[in-house]
Amino acid sequence: MLSIGALATYTDVIRSPLVRRRLPMLVDAAREVGGVQIQNRGTIGGNVANASPAGDTLPVLAAADAIVVLHRVDGVRRVPFTAFYTGYRQSVMRPDELIVALEVPPVRGRQWFRKVGTRAAQSISKVVMAAVEPPGRDAPRIAAGSVAPTVVRLPSTEAALAAGASIAEAQRILLEEMAPIDDIRSTAEYRRRVAANLLARFWNERQRS
Ligand SMILES: Cc1cc2nc3c(=O)[nH]c(=O)nc-3n(C[C@H](O)[C@H](O)[C@H](O)COP(=O)(O)OP(=O)(O)OC[C@H]3O[C@@H](n4cnc5c(N)ncnc54)[C@H](O)[C@@H]3O)c2cc1C
Repeated sequence: MLSIGALATYTDVIRSPLVRRRLPMLVDAAREVGGVQIQNRGTIGGNVANASPAGDTLPVLAAADAIVVLHRVDGVRRVPFTAFYTGYRQSVMRPDELIVALEVPPVRGRQWFRKVGTRAAQSISKVVMAAVEPPGRDAPRIAAGSVAPTVVRLPSTEAALAAGASIAEAQRILLEEMAPIDDIRSTAEYRRRVAANLLARFWNERQRS
């Protein structure tokens, strides 16, 4: 289990040989957060606790099947990352709890991350996606941010791809699993198109490798 302390900054993540080896898609995500100043100060625990659906590390943690470690005065509990958020900016974390770590089981296979924003830096995601392609016939693990009230895993899309669906069919299913909105950063239509394109990019890169 890779245990990343909640106070790890993005710069800590980028510089960690262990994270680079075990979870390179988290390094890719950390490099895209804000600018260098934010990477030096912002923490992964803060990104998770902040509970923004646009948080850049969140699809990575969802696709990696991470576990949130919550401490309170008289105990500790571990919550699967995919069960942590309950709604827009809401989570199961109680007022007397702190996130102390994110635990990530070994991730086998190719890891992939893409963020689409207005600029290369200081840009909140319009769409962000992370994916894992395990070796063999196991289903891919795909998660997306900024396309619903919380970060989402996309189990029906994953199952369709594993079952041999065409990319067009998988894109159709993907759109059913998302609930994007129009807001100040983008439109729902743009988010739908870009998310479908990102899915194809991930899957097509797989077929070439
Ligand atoms: C200019 C700018 C650019 C940014 N760009 C991005 C970006 O590109 N991508 C992105 O994802 N985010 C971005 N952010 C948002 C933010 O910086 C990051 O989400 C950062 O990781 C938050 O971490 P922090 O340590 O600063 O948390 P804080 O902002 O200090 O805390 C956020 C919230 O979480 C709570 N909290 C923090 N740590 C814990 C913990 N361990 N346990 C329980 N609660 C906790 C705090 O009480 C607070 O309510 C940006 C912010 C700024 C100001």
